[in-house]
Amino acid sequence: MTCFDTFAMVDWSAARRAPERPGKDSIWIGVSRRDREEEPLYFRTRIQAETWIAEFISRENDAGRRVLIGFDFPFGYPRGFARVVTGSDDPVELWYWLESRIRDDESGENNRFEVAEELNALFEGPGPFWGKPAKDRWPGVPYRKRGIGFDRVAERRAGDIAAKAASSCFQLAFPPSVGSQVLMGLPMLARLRRRPDVAVWPFDDWTGAKTVLAEIWPGLIEPAVRSTTGPADQPAIRDREQVRLMARAFAGLLFEDLSEMMRDIPEAAREEAWILGTGHADRLVALAGPGADVLQPPPLRNDCFALPAGVDWTPVDEALGLLKSGLSVVTDAETVALPDALNRVLARDALALRSNPPQANSAVDGYGFAGPVPEGAHVLPLVGGRSAAGAPFAGPVPEGHAIRILTGATLPDGVDTVVLEEDVRVDGSHVAFRGPLKAGANARKAGEDVREGDIALSAGRVVTPADLALLSAVGISQVDLRRQLRVAVVSTGDELVDSGEQAAKGRIFDANRPMLLAMIARFGFKPVDMGRVGDDRGALKDRLDAASAMADAILTSGGASAGDEDHVSALLKEAGAMQEWRIAMKPGRPLALGLWHDTPVFGLPGNPVAAMVCTLIFARPALSRLAGADWTEPQGFLVPAAFEKNKKPGRREYLRARVRNGRAEVFASEGSGRISGLSWAEGLVEIEDGARHIRPGDPVRFIPYGSFGL
Ligand code: AMP
Ligand code: MG
Repeated sequence: MTCFDTFAMVDWSAARRAPERPGKDSIWIGVSRRDREEEPLYFRTRIQAETWIAEFISRENDAGRRVLIGFDFPFGYPRGFARVVTGSDDPVELWYWLESRIRDDESGENNRFEVAEELNALFEGPGPFWGKPAKDRWPGVPYRKRGIGFDRVAERRAGDIAAKAASSCFQLAFPPSVGSQVLMGLPMLARLRRRPDVAVWPFDDWTGAKTVLAEIWPGLIEPAVRSTTGPADQPAIRDREQVRLMARAFAGLLFEDLSEMMRDIPEAAREEAWILGTGHADRLVALAGPGADVLQPPPLRNDCFALPAGVDWTPVDEALGLLKSGLSVVTDAETVALPDALNRVLARDALALRSNPPQANSAVDGYGFAGPVPEGAHVLPLVGGRSAAGAPFAGPVPEGHAIRILTGATLPDGVDTVVLEEDVRVDGSHVAFRGPLKAGANARKAGEDVREGDIALSAGRVVTPADLALLSAVGISQVDLRRQLRVAVVSTGDELVDSGEQAAKGRIFDANRPMLLAMIARFGFKPVDMGRVGDDRGALKDRLDAASAMADAILTSGGASAGDEDHVSALLKEAGAMQEWRIAMKPGRPLALGLWHDTPVFGLPGNPVAAMVCTLIFARPALSRLAGADWTEPQGFLVPAAFEKNKKPGRREYLRARVRNGRAEVFASEGSGRISGLSWAEGLVEIEDGARHIRPGDPVRFIPYGSFGL
């Protein structure tokens, strides 16, 4: 079985000839191939569209391309309908029955209401078809649904219920209605099906057919459609966006996934047909949604770490600006169930699938009625029953009546205002209280927090516990995330041994690697421990090769300066991809930045204090950028200094600090080998580049470790 090459999605219409200027209420067709999307096509009449579709099928098939064509109307009626009309359960018999009766012309004038009358006459009582543009025409078609039994055939198909489709194929007028499109669409399908190599899913054997016709419904991708609004003064034509995005979504599916969607349907679909993609809406929305094309990131530019020429010491803010503009996301995307999304980066905007709250509800325990009520005493008769959270009151509350209502309960029809139970007296049949109360008092409006289709969270967001609440509340159970950034850590230096090993004289324990691996994990990335290497260029080269194969970025510590044993910088220089960043900052030695086999390397200083501060200030935002996360600045706050300090102007200083009694204390020694100070501290005090003298009581900016993601 070969996969489909071309996808065409058709928005059918039952309307009369549409104006020349493209608009809604006419026929739109979206075409997408696996590698290319075409501008949707506009047709003024069904006859024009059908002619185009027939030619399109021939053209594609002749070129050896297999085609899937989706039509946005039901291919079948609820179970039992076909038998009443044709004597057979075969839905396609019904297509031919309609084909022989429906008339259409270039003006779009057609006889669908007459045919609906003929169909209704085959059923006892009014209906099942109903709805018409003129009350006094077509007496065989009721104007309203009221009074139609739907006992011989159901109002909706199993597939409509499964897809939560809004309309029944028996409703011929009043939006959202699809019934007229079915009557005007099935005869066309009957004609297309007669062509060689055309199969109709799911009735025919479609597995080998060159062209497959399938029922689709753009409602499945509504959140994606809503997000492509275009400029406010020039809103996109909905129908056009629907077909464009439907074609894009189906073209983006893996063929295995599409075949599974086509195979995995219930028995009822054999007669009633089925909406392709039902149950897979999230997947389709993700494929159709904004940014659908940004999920495969391009490689980093070679000059991503380039510094402007001629600058001796780069100010911190400028260095950060360069990282921000030079780096971009390197990870592709995957779909993940919500509980696993914590701390991960959203690859695409998450669109609310449902409003929060979904319905208007009560904010208090009390009594609901139609507001507003003026000042003064009020006594309202109570209707029997109550509305509670999860157990709404079914009927309407008549005007001038009130109902018992509890917190979180859906407001019944006729209720928009609630009076607190503390403010009323009740005697069983009446409730008494004093006004005034504004309309809407003590009630929450539907969607007042988030509306369906709104962006609940934007791409680049790092998912927090609160975000899990928000996404759950708006009906999102899975999200598209960036694959977790893998960050390798290598320590360098002949003097290092791992803690737990024997340390001979002159050797020290590797303190940086455990710290850096833990920081990476706290930042939400995946740490990859690449051990340590001595000051040996060949060994380091092999280690960088291995690290670049296993990770998306590499942090090294030690050996980043320009000395004899500074092999990280020497190797990167050899590779021709080295940038020595001399940043006007304390603590900090030069940073060696470069690409090793296209993998960014951050050569950190060996001193643990400098290694940690440089990681917090530079590596973390840079890694976040690579991970696809929004650029964020660590939030600090001003507190009075509890210390005095003289400082060289022209460089930024970071001091190990903590806040006690509302004042910032700093660690007694600024020595960059003093690891105990890192541990003593709970954050950093950042002293501006220009500052010279800090006196006790002067405001200084304290940035807690937590603001750095630790
Ligand atoms: P380097 O940047 O290689 O010149 O090292 C600067 C200082 O940091 C030296 O005193 C090193 O011994 C020390 N150092 C380097 N790497 C580590 C490490 N992984 N753990 C603890 N200290 C280190
Ligand atoms: Mg060293």
